Amino acid sequence: MNDGIVVVGASLAGLRVAEALRAGGYRGRLRLVGDEQHLPYDRPPLSKQVLTGEWEAERSALTTPAQLAEAGIETVLGARALDVDTEAVTLADGRRLGYDRLVVATGAAARTWPGAAPGGRVHRLRTLGDSVRLRAALADGGPLVVVGGGFIGLEVAAAARGAGLDVTVVELASTLLEPVLGPAIGACFTRLHRAAGVRVLTGVPITSLRETADAVNVELADGTGLTAAHVVVGIGAKPNTDWLTGLGLDDAAGVPCDARGRAGDRVWALGDVARWEQPAYGDSVRHEHWTSAVDQAAVVAAAVLGREPARPPAPPYFWSVQYDVNFQLAGRPDLASSVEVLEAGEGGADRGTVFALTDAAGRRVAVAAFHHPRRFLRLRRELQEESASAPVRP
Ligand SMILES: Cc1cc2nc3c(=O)[nH]c(=O)nc-3n(C[C@H](O)[C@H](O)[C@H](O)COP(=O)(O)OP(=O)(O)OC[C@H]3O[C@@H](n4cnc5c(N)ncnc54)[C@H](O)[C@@H]3O)c2cc1C
Repeated sequence: MNDGIVVVGASLAGLRVAEALRAGGYRGRLRLVGDEQHLPYDRPPLSKQVLTGEWEAERSALTTPAQLAEAGIETVLGARALDVDTEAVTLADGRRLGYDRLVVATGAAARTWPGAAPGGRVHRLRTLGDSVRLRAALADGGPLVVVGGGFIGLEVAAAARGAGLDVTVVELASTLLEPVLGPAIGACFTRLHRAAGVRVLTGVPITSLRETADAVNVELADGTGLTAAHVVVGIGAKPNTDWLTGLGLDDAAGVPCDARGRAGDRVWALGDVARWEQPAYGDSVRHEHWTSAVDQAAVVAAAVLGREPARPPAPPYFWSVQYDVNFQLAGRPDLASSVEVLEAGEGGADRGTVFALTDAAGRRVAVAAFHHPRRFLRLRRELQEESASAPVRP
């Protein structure tokens, strides 16, 4: 047993777990395997600073070759894991990487529109390459149609409006972000984008996207037809579990793990690909949140080294920046049955509004702030204290 630890997925979660293993004293062989050519980079700027051109793409890098070398983390890049068994990971080029312990950090892939040709006028946004391509497309001018009023679609809409483009967002639900945050908070986003000049069409599905040489024709179920120079499809992501069939972990809902990321014998998973048990809530969920990947890295590194984690897991946290609004959320909005305004914005404005989300039993399950970082910080701390002291649910 001297193959050491293999971490598959060379992005935020994979890098942070590798760093934490070294910080925790692990001295054995440590390989970080990823299918992208780049060293690990950060994704939140891809729909914000990199997309608007405020940052050069290189600024999203999470590490440097020198830092990796100093930490003794070997990288195997441009290498897609195709299969795995209890001894080794098989790469697309046929190489087999033996492991003593395996960490799965393969994240999620953006869902695409069926039939959309890669590199064409119908875009998705998950990778650095996607962001750079979309930035060039926006520089061409609009109109832009965004399919899906989720966080990534709305950040793109804000960036495109900021560049002066004509933007339409089409969302199936009755308000933007309703499936994630419910109608009350979702309505704040609808007002925000309409006030910025975005045409927001809700409650209507798209029936077809047809790409021609110089445009994309978008048809909606109510008969509306839109013509766009480019379309961005932001309809969610699916966990990259396909390569895990050999371990029986190819679960479309995410790799099932215990509350410390253990997925099987000598196997752990974390980040966007993993679905962890949540003892405080009595269920198991997968988060697509930057902070969850970082928090879980510390827990997994401790577990791999056979130790207790330094801190109990905090409630999930997420932020989004759209125009000059910083939205923050902590907790589990998916469990909420009601939303209360704890503090309204000045003069009744959405900006500055703080929300508490409660489940059917009256327990506070999430807090959110539409640009009120100071108040949010306190509420997030309180939520963390409550969840740490809450009884474990069966
Ligand atoms: C555009 C964008 C904006 C975001 N903005 C925010 C934000 O504002 N706030 C927030 O909280 N979160 C945000 N997120 C989410 C956050 O970036 C993710 O939660 C985070 O990147 C998860 O890290 P990860 O390492 O688990 O997965 P990923 O970052 O998806 O990395 C997984 C890596 O594994 C690689 N991989 C996949 N399959 C294989 C395979 N078979 N073999 C080898 N390698 C493989 C992938 O190519 C990728 O490099 C955003 C995400 C995106 C895409």
